[in-house]
Formats: sequence, structure tokens, C-alpha cells
Amino acid sequence: MTKVSGRLNRLAESATLAMARMSRELQAKGINIIALSLGEPDFDTPEFIKEAAKKAIDDNFSHYTPVAGLPELRSSISAKFKRDNLLEYTPDQIVVSTGAKQSLANVCLSLLDPEDEVLLPCPYWVSYAEIIKLAEGVPVEIKSTIDSDFKITPNQLEASITSRTKMIMFSSPCNPSGTVYTQSELEAIAKMLEKYPNIYIVSDEIYEHINFTDKHYSIGTISSMKDRTVTVNGVSKGFAMTGWRVGFIGAPLWIAKACNKIQGQVTSATCAIAQKAAERAMLAEPRSTTKEMKETFLKRRNMLVNLLKEIPGIKCNIPQGAFYVFPDISSYFGKSYENEVINNANDFCMYLLNFAHVACVAGDAFGNPECIRISYAASDKKLTDAVSRIKTHLGKLS
Ligand code: PMP
Ligand code: GLU
Repeated sequence: MTKVSGRLNRLAESATLAMARMSRELQAKGINIIALSLGEPDFDTPEFIKEAAKKAIDDNFSHYTPVAGLPELRSSISAKFKRDNLLEYTPDQIVVSTGAKQSLANVCLSLLDPEDEVLLPCPYWVSYAEIIKLAEGVPVEIKSTIDSDFKITPNQLEASITSRTKMIMFSSPCNPSGTVYTQSELEAIAKMLEKYPNIYIVSDEIYEHINFTDKHYSIGTISSMKDRTVTVNGVSKGFAMTGWRVGFIGAPLWIAKACNKIQGQVTSATCAIAQKAAERAMLAEPRSTTKEMKETFLKRRNMLVNLLKEIPGIKCNIPQGAFYVFPDISSYFGKSYENEVINNANDFCMYLLNFAHVACVAGDAFGNPECIRISYAASDKKLTDAVSRIKTHLGKLS
């Protein structure tokens, strides 16, 4: 008899990866799917980074490295934090992992005891809630809507704090809403959190370089938050390096040591060659390739938002960063096709996948079940075709 653990039974499959899997399966059957489900840049890793990796192979970087990452990589990350974010993390406060996903898992496994609560401003990235559950913590959703640009206020946050609240976890720019918190908004949140010195902040800044407001602000720079903020970042998004699997944290020393200990028993360090490539990315000046990507994303965002506005019943705000739009599609709930009713965002996405052959992700997994996530990390042609297919098929609903 096969029986998986209760822990696994409580875990949901990653909704982003599940949709990517389903679109690949349909594609393998010869169906032309436009996949706007997976959040990864459709650019190639810049040449100068690839060169560093090739050199690392020739220089025989083929051995285990220290668990927390090569000293030269951690130094370059320390310099990056200072240069780009005004954050002071010494190299021993930095832990490099197999993607920011592992960084987040390390932090949750290091800090959470069973039943500890983690505040999650909605919408949040799919894996947050599941990683928290894996660490036996309790995700506590704080709702937001498109009308407030998916932002939450300090008062809303405070209303969810209990004696079990251990930390708050959020991304800015946000996956999936593209929301960017301004300096004054983060300062207001920090001011409120000053009353609760036992709450830690996990600030996921992986979309730092895809920020159309031109000002990325790190909550860890606020002096009262410095000793309780874990800043999460990585090379996947800003340098088109999703497959290289390098993410990292800057954290109070005791948290960095805890993450190092966990990682040392689970995976050890990430790939040595990928680390040399990441080191090159960290030193990159000027960031011309990153800037080019950002400009392309901005043009696509404008195009996609304008196209979506032409579809009746789709409510879309203007995301300020990342590469997603997160429209409210709830006006379609209750509509039907071939005797099937669209009851929720999941039904809506399955209809789009099976009839319009466009893959998006339902908002449920992000904590906003009235929305869907559309990634615009795809060519103009794919985006225009996708919206045209969506429009046609939504028009067929009754
Ligand atoms: N945080 C957010 C908000 C993300 O969108 C992603 C993308 N996968 C990650 C963390 C993890 O990134 P990676 O593991 O590729 O570094
Ligand atoms: N972060 C990306 C996304 O949200 C990659 C998929 C994943 O790692 O879940 O789609």
C-alpha cells in the first residue's frame, strides 16, 4: 500500500507549475497553446554572464563550495545590497540557495514553530502559503482588492496580529499583482510594526529590477526594521537566469546561521558554476541588459493593459512592476458554455485553456479568487493573439 505523509497531503501542487504542466501536455498533443502561465523572462541570460560560467567550468569550479555560497559571491552580494539597496549585510549575513524558493523555505523552516502565524498580504506568491504550511506554520491572509491597487494598510495588517504572529511575508514589486509599495507606505507599515518587536519581516525583492516607478525601496533600510528583516532576492528575474537556480538572503546573523544549518542537511550549496555566473551578474555595471528587459516589459504592459480594457467585464489596474497583470474577472462568474457554468477563477482559466488555448493562472492560489494572473513575459505577437482568442471565447459565453 502506498501512503504519503499527512504533510504532503496538506500541500497543494504549485498552481503556476501545474498550469505550465497542463499547457505542455496539450502542446504535446499538437494543440497550439499560448502559455502565459509561468513567470519567467522570455529573454536569454546575458552573454557576459554565460562567459563567466564557461570560464568557471574551464577553471574547474566543479567541487562543493561552502554551504552558504562562495566567499567571493557573498562579497559581491554584500556589495550589491549596499550599492543598489542601501542595505548593510556583511558576507556572513548572506546565504545563497538553490533559487529564492529555497531561501524562503530555509527562512520558514528556521523561524516557524507549529501554529506560528505568518501574515500574508493578498495577493501573494503561490508558494508562500504552501512553504509556511510545510514548516507547520499557519498562513493568515489579509485581503486586498483591485480598487486599492492590491495594497494593504498598516491598520489592516495590525488587525490580523495575534500573540502567535511570527512574521509577515510579502513581495514588492508583487507577484502576481505588480504592486509596488512606496517608501512612505513601507515606512507607515514599519511604524506600526515597531509596536510588535517579535514580528519578523520577510521582504521578497526578486522583482527589484522590473520596477516601472524607478524607485525600489527596501524595508530593511528602516533602522527599526533592520535587525528583524530578511531580504530575499536572486538572479532569476532581473538577469533572466531562472534555470541557473541561484537565490539569496541578507539576514540578521543568527537567522543566516540557522538557514545555513538547514541547507547543510538538505541540499548543501547550489551549483558552483551557477554561483560564478551569479557573481558576475552581481558585479554587472552598467546594467544595460537588465534595463533593456525592463523597457521591453513596460511596453508590453502598456499594450496588454490597453488590449484587456477592450474586453467587456474585465477589470484591470496598472501594475507598477514585475511582469504580470492580475485582472478581476468575477463578472464572468455564473456565465456558461455547453451546459458548464463558470463558477470561479479556476473554471474561467480551464475554459480559456481548453477553448481559447491560452494558459493563465487562477487567482485562488494567490489569495484573490476573483482574479486571474496573466504573465506578459511573452512576445508582442503572442500577447496580441492571446487577447484576441480570449476576447472571442469570452464573447461566446452566455
Ligand atoms: N519569489 C517570487 C515572488 C517569485 O515570483 C519567484 C519566482 N519563481 C520566486 C520567489 C522564486 O524564484 P527562484 O526560485 O527562481 O529564485
Ligand atoms: N515565480 C514564477 C511564477 O510565479 C515561477 C514558477 C514557480 O516557481 O512557481 O510563475
